[in-house]
Amino acid sequence: MQRKPGLISFLLFFTGLLCIGSLFFFGYHTYQRIVAAEKDLTDTMAQVEKKQQEIKENEEFYTTAVQEKESALERQGSQKKPVQERAPGSEDADINKPSVFQSEEVLDHPEDNSSVFSSDEDTDSGASNGHIIGIDPGHQSYHVDMSDLEPIGPGSSEMKARATTGTEGTYSGVPEYQLNLDISLKLRDVLEQRGYQVVLTRTDNDTAISNKERAEYAAANGAEIYVRIHANGDDSHTASGALAMAPSSSNPYVSQLSEESTRLSRCILDSYCEVTGFQNLGVQYYDNMTGINWSTVPVTILEMGFMTNQHDDTQMNDAAFQDTMVSGIADGIDAYFG
Ligand SMILES: [Zn+2]
Repeated sequence: MQRKPGLISFLLFFTGLLCIGSLFFFGYHTYQRIVAAEKDLTDTMAQVEKKQQEIKENEEFYTTAVQEKESALERQGSQKKPVQERAPGSEDADINKPSVFQSEEVLDHPEDNSSVFSSDEDTDSGASNGHIIGIDPGHQSYHVDMSDLEPIGPGSSEMKARATTGTEGTYSGVPEYQLNLDISLKLRDVLEQRGYQVVLTRTDNDTAISNKERAEYAAANGAEIYVRIHANGDDSHTASGALAMAPSSSNPYVSQLSEESTRLSRCILDSYCEVTGFQNLGVQYYDNMTGINWSTVPVTILEMGFMTNQHDDTQMNDAAFQDTMVSGIADGIDAYFG
């Protein structure tokens, strides 16, 4: 009777020991696994960090490579492609290119003069009205090098490139210099029909004549007014409409031309906008335009519209619409002399 409780106690004790042992065994085992998992995690984190560092290095390497490539393309592009023309200072946007042109080549060759001058025989559909109009189709072909500098006005130490390449039609793909020439040639024909004599500063895209030389050329050949034909460009595609540029009354070079230039600008711009329906952005004053500052006769730059705007670009490159544009400009010149 005395051994029974002893046996039960022993069994209970033994069972207790087993439980405690198991607890220790499994607890320790779990602990080991946790430690191992932690170690794995640490290793993995280290690998991830290493990978991240590699990715960062690669990213930096490729970013640098891309930047180098872009700036190389930009340098290359600036010699061939147009720089966006902006409303302020469009004429003289900065482009640097090596020079190939000597001004005397254009100014001294009589055969060039004959090609840019309308002779009296050409004005067959109207008697001469005695007025001589200077027309400058802005810019010239991309491949003509006009990067040499010239003073922005008589006696000025401020220099700008002899000419720039202008903007380009975002939708039409037509370069501004081509549109300017097309309009100017049509304008010459219409003005001649109305009895004017016309002096064009260029009749092709390859003539390398600077902004200063253009102004001098027009005046030297008797132009009473100097009308510069341009089109605009903007970073946004929403900017649209036409504007005219004139020298201000405080222009350091041609303040004496400000009043008549403003009147000329208004006559042409208002008439142009009336027939084309283009938004009239008004006359704006610029005193940093080489081609204005070297003029000796009333001068205007007509920015016919924005080649970066779908409506303007499409309209301006439509042949029939161009006739309307030209008639508007010619009406404005009539109004100026009327
Ligand atoms: Zn232009």
